[in-house]
Amino acid sequence: MYKLSGVTKNYHRGRDTIAALRGVDLVVEDGEWLSIQGPTGHGKSTLLQILGGLDRPSSGVVDFDGRDLAQLREAEVTKVRAESMGFVFQTFNLIPTLSALENVETALVPLHVSATARRQRAAVALEAVGLADRLRHVPGELSGGQQQRVAIARALVKEPKVLLADEPTGNLDEETRDEIIDLLDTMWRERGLTMVFVTHDSTVARRAQRIGVMKNGRLNFKQPARSQAARPQSARSQPDSFQPDRAQTARAQTAELPVSHPSDLDPGTIPAAD
Ligand code: ADP
Ligand code: MG
Repeated sequence: MYKLSGVTKNYHRGRDTIAALRGVDLVVEDGEWLSIQGPTGHGKSTLLQILGGLDRPSSGVVDFDGRDLAQLREAEVTKVRAESMGFVFQTFNLIPTLSALENVETALVPLHVSATARRQRAAVALEAVGLADRLRHVPGELSGGQQQRVAIARALVKEPKVLLADEPTGNLDEETRDEIIDLLDTMWRERGLTMVFVTHDSTVARRAQRIGVMKNGRLNFKQPARSQAARPQSARSQPDSFQPDRAQTARAQTAELPVSHPSDLDPGTIPAAD
């Protein structure tokens, strides 16, 4: 699904340049669940924005299903995003004046789905996240966990190929966090989704099949192909050979990456972002 090579991102502020990404190489297979962990200010959100075509790298290739998001025209990136990518953010990012149903419907507007079909699909998506009885509520009338469920329904109603989540449980208490991750886990198993989460929370990160660690704008892998999050065979959209291939890719990738050197371990090089 994704093949990133040599991805860098520099932010310029006045005379200063902040190197948020310093050469990221990454392969994400179809159907994989990947977490990217790491302390605040080390480039996780920057990487996710680039995976989602919300920002462009300063250099490098961001291949998404054979097209380089770094090179596509803006209108084309917008189309890829609308059709193939779902986003979930820490702060939910719902429109406060719209009902849950209307918030979910917004994801289908760029896809030219008729108003009737939009409403119906949005209702089904909200039902799938356990909110069938909250369709008419506005975000202010919902708990944090419920708001994040609405955001998940909005992300998934278009049936995207990939779900990209930036600290999806960062604003939730532990119990609600676990409920939301269980929900995402179910969606991943049932829908053949690819998921990439960035999080500083290792409880969340550990739920994925594979954990990458961002440190000073570089990405390294802890251990390849975790088995605990294996999707049942019947629910996979990939052929039988998929699992071994994926494990192989993960191993190859780990082998290719440079081992940490002392500067990777210095947490003070990049100022904290939030
Ligand atoms: P993380 O998500 O791991 O906390 P970020 O990707 O948000 O890290 O930020 C990485 C670095 O880039 C930080 O030093 C941050 O201050 C800087 N940064 C992020 N976004 C911008 C921006 N729009 N302009 C300038 N600097 C930025
Ligand atoms: Mg961040």
